[in-house]
Amino acid sequence: MQSSIKKIGLIVILILVLPLSTFFIYQFASLNEYEKEINKIYLQQLETIIYSVNQYSEDVVSSWVNDVVLQLKQEKSKSHQNPIISQYQNVVSSIFLADKNISDINIYYNESQESLVSNELIRNELEIRKPLIDKLQKFLESGYQRIEPIGKITSGNKYLCLFPLNKNEVNWDLGGIIFDPARYIQQSLASKISQAAGNEFILTVSSNENNLIFSTDVTDSTEIVINKPLWLIPGYTLGIKLKSGSIQELVSQRFYTNLIVLALLLFVLIVGLILIYYNLRKEIRLAQLKSDFIANVSHELRTPLTMISMYSETLALNRLKSEEKKREYYSVIHNETNRLSKIVNSILNFSKMEQQTRKFNYENCSLIEINDDVFKTYEYHIKSKGFSYSLNQNEKVKDIIADIDAVSESIINLIDNAIKYCNEKKEFAININENEIGPFWEIKDFGIGISASDQKKIFDKFYRVSSGLVNTKKGTGLGLSLVKQIMKEHSGNVIVESKIGEGSTFRLQFNNNFNGKV
Ligand code: ADP
Repeated sequence: MQSSIKKIGLIVILILVLPLSTFFIYQFASLNEYEKEINKIYLQQLETIIYSVNQYSEDVVSSWVNDVVLQLKQEKSKSHQNPIISQYQNVVSSIFLADKNISDINIYYNESQESLVSNELIRNELEIRKPLIDKLQKFLESGYQRIEPIGKITSGNKYLCLFPLNKNEVNWDLGGIIFDPARYIQQSLASKISQAAGNEFILTVSSNENNLIFSTDVTDSTEIVINKPLWLIPGYTLGIKLKSGSIQELVSQRFYTNLIVLALLLFVLIVGLILIYYNLRKEIRLAQLKSDFIANVSHELRTPLTMISMYSETLALNRLKSEEKKREYYSVIHNETNRLSKIVNSILNFSKMEQQTRKFNYENCSLIEINDDVFKTYEYHIKSKGFSYSLNQNEKVKDIIADIDAVSESIINLIDNAIKYCNEKKEFAININENEIGPFWEIKDFGIGISASDQKKIFDKFYRVSSGLVNTKKGTGLGLSLVKQIMKEHSGNVIVESKIGEGSTFRLQFNNNFNGKV
């Protein structure tokens, strides 16, 4: 039986535990990959938002350039009071136009701005960028009016953008816009940045020196996740992060939640498997015990039947002459019949208990009286087996509410066992008394004793100790399981104390609180 249980354990491990652990490891690994992917997608999303803000900022300047070109086309004017600047709300401080050779430069100032740039300064800036100006012209020839951010040009923190012009259309080869970056961000970009940030993100703009110029949430001080340059204003950066903590935090939080769920699932599965394994083991043991039981019972029935048939046949043939011999034969037949009916009764009672069809007639009764009645009918049997016993009873022990037949049956079972599992010392002691729980009936023998591990199992149906001396004793393995069920029906208990080689004490413990109603 042990080897088949081991086999089942191995099969369970192979069939379920191994694939499950592989699955868990796989899930764990792919979870990691999955979280990495999410992180990547988040970062891409952040970059896209920054890209869209940059794109918008270029569109703003493009629209300025378009306005300038349109104005020039319409007026072909060289007036210093060109109105094209005033519409850019203080952001653009001046616009200049120049020819290819940088010989002619015309600067338009915003009326509300101080004049910060001189022809000289512009010329110097353009002189050193001649190759760039040629490149811009080439772009224009191929149909692309590129706007080139130049960066800071004056000590007053103004920035310059250059763009090529078509001389045939507007009389000039080159245009430049000089603007205030802080105002540009606050007035032209702020609303777009806030819109792009929405409720989920925080967008910031910082200058080269790490000064925060603008933020959609000034209260937040956690680290920015991505920083990208603001194309049009070299030295300025756009930053972005999630409002609710960093992406890493979010991802790792999700990762650990998933991990915990996975681990819990695995735990539940393993507990389930362990339960299945133990149940299976129990069922196999029970099946084994049942088959032992059938073998035991067949043997138990055959022996008395053979004896009865043999002895009665001898008597019927009148082969015995002496009366004494005849009495002896009758007594054997009587004893064997008793043995048979005891086995049959215990099987019937057991099956009734199993099907829960056994009816108990509870009445007020005395343990002392029940014990007396049992010994009246059993004394002869005990003595004939060569046993002696002592009786110690507390005359004042309280009455119990019980089914007298069921209690007698339990007592007989325990006395039978004390006789059956004896050693050389053919003695036992009965003790009737009460404790704080209620009255009890106790039998102490000096027999072979029961090991601690077997003490846990002897009350299981069909269980018989299968080692040493016990092997040679006959039995069905039903007696103690019946006693246990009977005591349970009485809200009581059967308790064993035993030591191998020294003997055992079985106690039927009744309960003061039991009133016969279940
Ligand atoms: P059975 O006696 O028919 O085998 P029981 O249910 O009465 O079945 O007992 C179960 C097992 O408990 C017995 O097989 C025996 O090994 C052990 N046992 C019961 N009573 C005693 C006892 N008084 N001393 C030693 N072993 C006992």
